[in-house]
Amino acid sequence: MTLPASLDEAVAALAAMPAAVPVAGGTDLMAAVNRGLLRPAGLVGLGRINEIRGWQYQDGHALLGAGLTHARMGRPDFAALIPALAAAARAAGPPQIRNAGTLGGNIASAAPTGDALPVLAALEATLVIAGQDGARREIPVSHLLAGRDMLAPAELIGYVRVPLLHAPQVFLKATGRTGPGRATASVAVVLDPARRGVRCAVGAIAPMPLRPLEAERWIASLIDWDGERAALAPEALGAFGEYVAAACIPDPEPPADGSPPPPLSPAVLHLRRTVAALARRALGRALS
Ligand SMILES: Cc1cc2nc3c(=O)[nH]c(=O)nc-3n(C[C@H](O)[C@H](O)[C@H](O)COP(=O)(O)OP(=O)(O)OC[C@H]3O[C@@H](n4cnc5c(N)ncnc54)[C@H](O)[C@@H]3O)c2cc1C
Repeated sequence: MTLPASLDEAVAALAAMPAAVPVAGGTDLMAAVNRGLLRPAGLVGLGRINEIRGWQYQDGHALLGAGLTHARMGRPDFAALIPALAAAARAAGPPQIRNAGTLGGNIASAAPTGDALPVLAALEATLVIAGQDGARREIPVSHLLAGRDMLAPAELIGYVRVPLLHAPQVFLKATGRTGPGRATASVAVVLDPARRGVRCAVGAIAPMPLRPLEAERWIASLIDWDGERAALAPEALGAFGEYVAAACIPDPEPPADGSPPPPLSPAVLHLRRTVAALARRALGRALS
């Protein structure tokens, strides 16, 4: 295994060994190797690259290193900066996974159950991609997750740029069991008072996080942004939950013959109720 000391060295190592793959915490990659799904011809370890293990402030944004571990993001100083991402990091698996697993690995794996992903979607975060000869390009995180903008073979996620909104934000996750586990559904809600916006993303129920844009706009129009405390009636919170859930898990299309659409299966109905409850609670907490 090659252990470069900088992002550019890591990119150069990958360019020199096209069959090698990058490994950060190894929690996803080694699981795939152990299950016989992957046999990399070489590994480029990212664990010694100090420049991507922390974060810095830049023009109202936080520039997060891809090597930040979930454990580091879960600490109080990070939670004061980006509370929803810290909450997602604290929920990302058992302690040994959170100690090793990284933000960059969570994004590059792009698993539907990646806890950081709905938060980054709601925050409209962007990725700084490092390429050969010091090249850097920036893309919305949603483009990578949607497969619209794939990483080239010798490219790495270097940093994640997140706007600092200085407003409440909440991440909630349902696992279908007690204790740590993969999400069956998750919801991130972010308030953006400067733009009078509510942004919401639902994770785990589709290949990538879903943004219920109409529900976001509708609920934002009900909030008294100039009031001393932005608050909403419980009925409005409930309606927001239903709106989000129906947008993300729509009713089946009616058949072409004009007969009524088939009902949702009990499992899908349960998932829809879970999403509605998570969205209602997340917005309620953000506004409380
Ligand atoms: C038992 C268990 C429980 C888990 N529970 C959860 C959970 O509850 N929530 C959750 O979100 N995740 C969970 N995970 C998944 C995993 O911990 C996370 O996805 C983690 O963030 C992956 O990071 P890593 O550094 O270990 O990635 P690695 O395993 O090192 O890499 C994963 C993939 O990303 C690529 N990669 C890594 N870093 C970069 C980079 N900077 N640029 C480009 N490509 C890169 C690698 O080549 C590889 O393809 C769990 C995993 C296990 C094994």
